[in-house]
Amino acid sequence: MSSFWKSALQIYVKNPQKVPSEELVYYDEKVTIINDKFPKSTCHLLILPRDGKLTLQHPTIALTDRIKDSLEEYVRMAQEYIFKTFTSKYKLVKPIPNVFDKIEDFNDMEIFIDKFITVGVHSVPSMANLHIHVITKDFHSEKLKYKNHYLSFNSEFYRKWDSLPLEQIPVRDEMIDLVKHGDLICCYCNANFKNQFAKLKKHLNEEFENHFKLK
Ligand SMILES: [Zn+2]
Ligand SMILES: [Zn+2]
Repeated sequence: MSSFWKSALQIYVKNPQKVPSEELVYYDEKVTIINDKFPKSTCHLLILPRDGKLTLQHPTIALTDRIKDSLEEYVRMAQEYIFKTFTSKYKLVKPIPNVFDKIEDFNDMEIFIDKFITVGVHSVPSMANLHIHVITKDFHSEKLKYKNHYLSFNSEFYRKWDSLPLEQIPVRDEMIDLVKHGDLICCYCNANFKNQFAKLKKHLNEEFENHFKLK
């Protein structure tokens, strides 16, 4: 990957005031929150700490308890933003077992945040600037184009906020292997599509359309 691409997030850290308004969700002196340009789900935000040292560290080890505490309010802000965005656009028409067991659960912000949004980082980040993913678990997006896109959020390659920090940075080759060769398992019903991404993709579209309708 070219260094230009790797540093594509630098502008958000350095000059958030120059970010187009449709991308920018929020910024202050500590963080910038943006809509991911290549969303892998209906709602997909990135939180970028702006501290010059922190931004260059590896997210699996840099997010210590102290740093996480200082970022907690921004995680919450991103989660609430996603709840509002998603629920103002869609309604739930069929329960999702273990996520929204009842239709009403969908409009309960705490349940929505707990069950339908995930917060975490990638074991092998594709971007140099430290960023935290805050993303809905529908994986319904035209930008979800390859097997590794799905597995980078649905395998051990993805490290949830609550599991951080790790004691050491995961072994790169082992993590790459996971997103290349892991089984594709539907996040709604656990059906296993093994290696068949096109089938999973079609199925994810059906799952989304079965459960959600535009308001
Ligand atoms: Zn990332
Ligand atoms: Zn399914």
